[in-house]
Amino acid sequence: MNTVVRRQVIVIGGGLSGLYAALHLKEAGRSVAVLEARDRVGGLTLSPHSPTLGRRVDLGGQWVSKFHKRIYGLIRRYDVPVRKQFADGARICIHEDKTFRGPMGTIPGMSEADWAAYTQAFDTLYGVFDALPANPWEGELAARLDQMTYQSWVCEILPPGMARNALLRLPGAYYGVMPEEVSALELIQKLRGCGGPRFMSDVETGGMSEHLWGSQGVSEGMAADLDGDVFLGSAARRVEWSDKSVAVETDGGRFEAEKVIFACSPAMVQQIGFAPALPAARRLLHQRFPNGRNSKAVAVYDRPFWREKGLNGHVISTSGALTAALDISGAEPGHGVMIALFSGKAALHVDPLDEAGRRRAVLAVLAQALGPEAQTPLEFHMQVWADEQWSGGASSPFLVPGQLTQYGAALRAPAGPIHWAGTHMATEFRGYMEGALAAGEAAARQVLTALAH
Ligand SMILES: Cc1cc2nc3c(=O)[nH]c(=O)nc-3n(C[C@H](O)[C@H](O)[C@H](O)COP(=O)(O)OP(=O)(O)OC[C@H]3O[C@@H](n4cnc5c(N)ncnc54)[C@H](O)[C@@H]3O)c2cc1C
Repeated sequence: MNTVVRRQVIVIGGGLSGLYAALHLKEAGRSVAVLEARDRVGGLTLSPHSPTLGRRVDLGGQWVSKFHKRIYGLIRRYDVPVRKQFADGARICIHEDKTFRGPMGTIPGMSEADWAAYTQAFDTLYGVFDALPANPWEGELAARLDQMTYQSWVCEILPPGMARNALLRLPGAYYGVMPEEVSALELIQKLRGCGGPRFMSDVETGGMSEHLWGSQGVSEGMAADLDGDVFLGSAARRVEWSDKSVAVETDGGRFEAEKVIFACSPAMVQQIGFAPALPAARRLLHQRFPNGRNSKAVAVYDRPFWREKGLNGHVISTSGALTAALDISGAEPGHGVMIALFSGKAALHVDPLDEAGRRRAVLAVLAQALGPEAQTPLEFHMQVWADEQWSGGASSPFLVPGQLTQYGAALRAPAGPIHWAGTHMATEFRGYMEGALAAGEAAARQVLTALAH
């Protein structure tokens, strides 16, 4: 395509955030073009077909809660299958070379003293949630927390041991981040905005109570409704902008508009040339807003054999063997399906390996937790998101120390005709699919207001 396409708004990124922004704009009567670098929509949601199951499995975002109102609306609109999280039975915790078994809601293998220290540390964390103001970057507490990493904060409130290790899991588990690289303020305010870790890990009624079978279907549904407005294989390479207009060069052509919304991570924005350059504050912010590591595997078995042992398939580790494993087979009898997540530090065990090594490493951890049957799945899928050119890591960009207090107030401010979306721009459920939609909607509203003036 060597033509020039003219629309009122260009959206860069055909993930959930960009597509939702475009849908809002289109439904408000504005003309849009979504430019997507890959040859598919969905971004960090990716749902390959499983021949064994005859349905899709998920290598990216998957869990939802009834509190995630926007994604729920789209799940219904596009008829994406959703299932209750299976949780009947005992969970496993891997601590170095040992596995411990115990009920959900506990960390199996933890001593009573460690459990008391752990729950007390959670109370301290929730105390900080309450103490931080609505604008989490304001005030003395924010200034102090933004000067340190989350690791330093945890080390201040807990001595070395299993309780400390368990609390240090949180940045990896939720955002793919290492505790020593993220600002304490950033992590704590993200957790607060997502309902807190007690809600986020709740498999009964909270953030992990339901999962999708094919989350990419949500983006595909939106792309179908944007019929003709989504341009695949169209990586934005160069952006020319002034106060009044914007032009985006892709490999295939030029797109001109009044406004543009960036709905990809700051690391991806940094690969694009700007003329004139983005304001210095924005460029420096993007350099300090990196992605983490998040890798996910799906193993399909002839049956959920772990259930026969009284296990519900839920596995965690306080020593970083994996981040979490869960049974996503659904309640219906049939094949057994496990997912295994390796994020933050745990990803360092598997990411550097070759394809066969990754498979071996994942299955070895599942076998340690669930039994030797885990070594021989019928089908195996894996996605290492750090390998992906157009994601460059996952699951949500995070701010390093010193940034939120410096840029918090200006984080969502447009630069001329350039507006910002993506899950990292959300104030609630940031890092989630819901956050991506909320940020897309917020950016679309900002653009609609600007276009009306
Ligand atoms: C392993 C994993 C597990 C997760 N689990 C959950 C979960 O259980 N529940 C949950 O709610 N969320 C989960 N998430 C997070 C969720 O998937 C993301 O928050 C959400 O999908 C992000 O959407 P987005 O639109 O903001 O960004 P993205 O999905 O990253 O979309 C950005 C898009 O921009 C495109 N792009 C990049 N550069 C360019 C360019 N130059 N030109 C054009 N296009 C470009 C990319 O290809 C991509 O499609 C998980 C994520 C991962 C990776």
